[in-house]
Amino acid sequence: MTAHAPRVSRAISAVLAATTIVVGLAGRTVLPEAVGGPLGDALSAVLVVWLVMLLAPRTPPAVAASVALAVCAVIEASHLTPLAPALLDRWPAARFVVGTTFAVQDLVWYALGAALAGTLVAAVTPRRGGTGQTLRHAPTAAAVRGRRAASVVAPLTVLGLLVVGGVVLGRTVEAEAVELTAEVTTAQRELSTSAGKVADDAVREQLAAALDRAGSVLGATPVLHRLPGDARAAAAGLEDAIEAVRASRRERATDRATTAREEAAPVRRRAERVLDAADALAESGQDAGEATRAAVRDTLGAVDDTVALADPERLAEMPLADLEEVAPVLRARQDAVGTATAELMSAQDAVVCPFPDQVWFPEGGRIATDDLAPIPWAPEHSVRADLLDGLVALDEAYLAQFGAHLVVNSAYRSVDDQREVYRPENPNPLAAPPGCSNHGLGTAVDLSVGPEGFDGARFAWLTEHAEQYGWTHPDWAGPTGRLPEPWHWESVATPDAY
Ligand SMILES: [Zn+2]
Repeated sequence: MTAHAPRVSRAISAVLAATTIVVGLAGRTVLPEAVGGPLGDALSAVLVVWLVMLLAPRTPPAVAASVALAVCAVIEASHLTPLAPALLDRWPAARFVVGTTFAVQDLVWYALGAALAGTLVAAVTPRRGGTGQTLRHAPTAAAVRGRRAASVVAPLTVLGLLVVGGVVLGRTVEAEAVELTAEVTTAQRELSTSAGKVADDAVREQLAAALDRAGSVLGATPVLHRLPGDARAAAAGLEDAIEAVRASRRERATDRATTAREEAAPVRRRAERVLDAADALAESGQDAGEATRAAVRDTLGAVDDTVALADPERLAEMPLADLEEVAPVLRARQDAVGTATAELMSAQDAVVCPFPDQVWFPEGGRIATDDLAPIPWAPEHSVRADLLDGLVALDEAYLAQFGAHLVVNSAYRSVDDQREVYRPENPNPLAAPPGCSNHGLGTAVDLSVGPEGFDGARFAWLTEHAEQYGWTHPDWAGPTGRLPEPWHWESVATPDAY
């Protein structure tokens, strides 16, 4: 072998050039664009190196590599001129040679391919010369055959590894992107459906931030800026954020169900009390109507079913969608009980209380002793305990004005007390039927106002001052009312409707 021997034989260069073309085209066809593109760019430069070696087998590897890079760069740059677009218009298949657009990162792949091919040429070139100590001697025939074999096998092996590596890398990046895209869809749905449904809004902000991160990962150039693992990490972040939002939704839904369950208790108790009283009145001949009583019974049953559902252990095991329905359903059913109860009370009122200003309450005359308080200066009479302070304050002012306490003739009246004063044979009896008087609620007092009645100084003073202490004189008891009663005063807290 002499200094004039080719570095790589033309035959080998031709085979390598053909192989490179086949692999490059196959790569563009088979591989995803994210991998096939860069691989094709690198192989273009490799191809130019083989072509240089085919035309001029003695070209030094560095020169061949530089020429390859220069040729590829010029072709790439042609996209910045009208030349490449015109060429592609006329002959679309030219894209296999010149590509389709200008992209700076393509130059990196060209450089990589050129360097790789140049290095391979240098590696398989027979060594010549060397240090002064090295003796020159002709290689044996076996060594020559070995180098020739190596000059074919080595580039093909590298090409094969390049292709296999590219396929693995590309498939991995693509599969991760597909998974991340699916996770993004789930996360977007979670973000839009969780508005106003979380215990802590910060979890939704974190989900939005994780979605932003996933978006930039998906938008990044595969392989160059999005490496294997990036999309998987973003998907894991999304999954955590979705879990946090769902946990927060559970927390809020559980709280609301528990609150609704607690709030249902007094509504149920009241409905049961009204129903019991209405049932008792029905037996004694004052039936408010079976349908109205049945409506309360039915709505109570529906509430009981939902209350049972809102048991803490059952809530903990319930799917989120069901869990979030418990509170609204319970509230709706609770409202239905309230409505049915009010309707039953109205129906009962119409049967029991003859006048519109009389309002029937099942607890009328049945107030628990604990809820009543004796009037300090007239302890034989009581009012509802929470109203006593206002009455005491009114009395103090009255005492200062008239030098004597308010004279209380009647206050709370039990059912039995009310029966004693009720005279149904009178077409406009002074006392209401049991259950219809606010004396039975502990919210009314009968006060002596002197023989002048409505015209006296006491009634005038009370009219002017009682309201500021929470007491008032109702219209029906006024001078022109249904039943003129200057002595009847009642708390402003007295209910007059359901
Ligand atoms: Zn009265």
